[in-house]
Amino acid sequence: MTKYIFITGGVVSSLGKGIIAASLGKLLRARGFSVINQKFDPYINVDPGTMSPFQHGEVFVTDDGAETDLDLGHYERFTDTSLGKLNNVTSGSVYQRVIDKERRGDYLGGTVQVIPHITNEIKSRIVGATKQFKPDFQLIEIGGTIGDIESLPFIEAIRQFKAEVGIGNAVSVHCTLLPYLPTSGELKTKPSQHSVSVLRSYGIQPEILVCRTTRAIPKTEREKLALFCSLPKDAVIECRDMKSIYEVPLALEEQNMADVIFKILGVKSKAPDLKGWIKLIEKIKNPKKTIRVAIAGKYTKLSDAYISVVESLKHAGYANDAAIDIKWINSEECLDEKRAKEMLKDVQAVVVPGGFGIRGIEGKLNVIKYARENNLPFLGLCLGMQCAVIEYARNVVGLKGANSAEFDENAQYPVIDLMLEQKNVQAYGGTMRLGAYDCILKKGSVAARAYGKEKISERHRHRYEVNNEYLKQIADAGLVFSGMSPDGMLAEVVELPKLDWFVASQFHPEFKSRPDKPHPLFKGLIDAAAKRVK
Ligand code: GLN
Repeated sequence: MTKYIFITGGVVSSLGKGIIAASLGKLLRARGFSVINQKFDPYINVDPGTMSPFQHGEVFVTDDGAETDLDLGHYERFTDTSLGKLNNVTSGSVYQRVIDKERRGDYLGGTVQVIPHITNEIKSRIVGATKQFKPDFQLIEIGGTIGDIESLPFIEAIRQFKAEVGIGNAVSVHCTLLPYLPTSGELKTKPSQHSVSVLRSYGIQPEILVCRTTRAIPKTEREKLALFCSLPKDAVIECRDMKSIYEVPLALEEQNMADVIFKILGVKSKAPDLKGWIKLIEKIKNPKKTIRVAIAGKYTKLSDAYISVVESLKHAGYANDAAIDIKWINSEECLDEKRAKEMLKDVQAVVVPGGFGIRGIEGKLNVIKYARENNLPFLGLCLGMQCAVIEYARNVVGLKGANSAEFDENAQYPVIDLMLEQKNVQAYGGTMRLGAYDCILKKGSVAARAYGKEKISERHRHRYEVNNEYLKQIADAGLVFSGMSPDGMLAEVVELPKLDWFVASQFHPEFKSRPDKPHPLFKGLIDAAAKRVK
């Protein structure tokens, strides 16, 4: 039978609950258990696909085409699993289902209420994922902070769920912050005590407390937390700030967090196999060089907006015994070519990531032109690939008026155009070409050599594509279309094989990289960049 672990947060937001949930998942996976993570988000959006990355960070995409919270990226990277639609639940999606049922008349004249209808729907999302994946452990993280009005139905649903599955089948892990007061030189426990008491007032006694802190928790503070939160001392877990998020599982393991949970759940303890992970952490902590990589995008003020790209670069760095130093370039600042050159002269590689809308596009084109003309290793992702095609069309093919129909509906040469299937799409939410599609790579191409195979599957999130009317003309001028959809109709990868690394994809490789298995396209980029570091 599946055992459930609920993860909540208190005191402040941005505690890194997602990393803690992912790390716990890793510890269970390292013991050979099957694990799935779920994220429950209390906002009313049906999914984060319609939210600005400035507000919510990256939109992560799963194989089955769900647009999800970025925590699913952490879950997949730590536990090396492939998650999907059922793993991210929002209040919006819960209410939508309940209201749809109400409109159909399913409630037979009853009054539809938060309890039981909304809470039942939330519980059914837990059970739905259990039925589909049949995991040994199901880890459910509730977004937001305890005390928020909007997360109350989720907390109530957990309370009911825990009671229904009974003691020994579910545990609550509550994550809090211990602020440090420099004036008194103390880590303060009171906010955590209050947070636990709020959680208790909702009927949930946490079995584990994970405390985020900048320094070691002294014994007296640990005892105080245990006493006031009604916990055994070994259930108070310290989670200190670490250089790398991938160290967190080892820090939790050192404190036997999994064993504490097993004791409560009556699960027989097993020794974890963390050999590979420990080796990885050694590599992460002892880089032999630093590679400077530029990311030229629009949402550069918030690094979470490109979190999977950043992580993928780091993964490829680990494989090269290298630390990655990201240079954020706001593409709007590269509107003149000289400025672009100035910005790029101290980096060993550049990534132009995905995005939407015209802002900063001309700057991205300048960045790509510089990379192409100066043999600076370049990786283009989705919009970055579309920009690479526009740049090549304008500056090499000679189609000066080349553009994407996304930026100029009346472009003289719309080398990037709306996909046919998108022409009649009206609503924004969940209507892009989403999720995993196959791609066939050209034999002997840079991409095929990087992957070591010719048939690949990658995740997508776009409405526009290379306009096939221009494909031959552009290809004749030297840009290699090295990846196409299996029907040969949609350009998936372009490359310039004569350069050290100039590859761009319509898909998003960043969603499938793992810390110990870097994605081939990121690895190719960083391998080429590494050669430039003395
Ligand atoms: N805006 C482009 C499109 O819709 C690229 C999307 C992306 O980069 N994810 O096709």
